[in-house]
Amino acid sequence: MAAPVNRRCRVARFGADVGMPLPRRQGSWVRALGVALVAFAMAPIANAASPGIRIEYVPPSNPAHTALYELLQQRRALEALQEIFSPFRLPIDLTLKTVGCDGVSNAYYQRPELRICYEYLDEIRQSIPKETTEAGITQTDAVFGQFFYVVAHEMGHAVFDLFDVPLFGRPEDAADQFAAYMMLQFGKGEARRLIAGAAYSYRNFVHDPKFVVPLEAFSDAHGAPAQRFYNLLCIAYGADAKLFADVVDKGYLPQKRAATCRGEYREVAFAFKQLIAPHLDQDRMKQVFDKAWLPDVGVPSLHK
Ligand SMILES: [Zn+2]
Repeated sequence: MAAPVNRRCRVARFGADVGMPLPRRQGSWVRALGVALVAFAMAPIANAASPGIRIEYVPPSNPAHTALYELLQQRRALEALQEIFSPFRLPIDLTLKTVGCDGVSNAYYQRPELRICYEYLDEIRQSIPKETTEAGITQTDAVFGQFFYVVAHEMGHAVFDLFDVPLFGRPEDAADQFAAYMMLQFGKGEARRLIAGAAYSYRNFVHDPKFVVPLEAFSDAHGAPAQRFYNLLCIAYGADAKLFADVVDKGYLPQKRAATCRGEYREVAFAFKQLIAPHLDQDRMKQVFDKAWLPDVGVPSLHK
């Protein structure tokens, strides 16, 4: 049976959902985002016009988003995403759009579009750390990890729908797992930075006792923020216990959960191999993920 045609989704960090604003950071977010995306877009692009994926930067109605709208175009952010997801042999055109959402911070898939709201990107902007975090997460990693995570999550919904992928369990968990799996396909260094940058979005709910979620969070279609944090780290650790050894050594992922992560990762990898890999251009996949995508930029230059 086909999956539902329309899957609307709010991937935003739960803090935004329940009206608990994340700490606002002042400063050089434009530069940080710019630096992140410039190298992303400047990586050599071969055959960027991927059949199946179209892109569109929709002009925002809110003037506050104009700079972001222009920057994304300058840095060819959607073009880069178009290339990264080009190995998927989609049955129909899928349009990746950045769009204003009338003040709602969201990202969602609704056939045949995947929409990323400027409001959501602005929320990422607000969460950029002032400097490299104790866990070693740079501004670039935080921007890029969160940005890619949300797009990959929505791509998960799109892929499940367009390829009629059956799911046991919650679609939102499956989309998170798809996104994590995609991040782990990059080179080791980049995979690590992307996972850490994405996990950063949930940091307060794990490390700051002031950030508590209401009971409502546990009835949501998505996992609660802390659960999504641990799930993300678990898949990563399960994929490569050496690369992510410090995630356990430093206590970000409890030993007890870590013990099951290899098995959890293998379930996801098996599902991907059985249900999604047949729809991939494997040569193209290798080409895309053999490339270096992330800029190697230190934080100090962003604040000088
Ligand atoms: Zn979702």
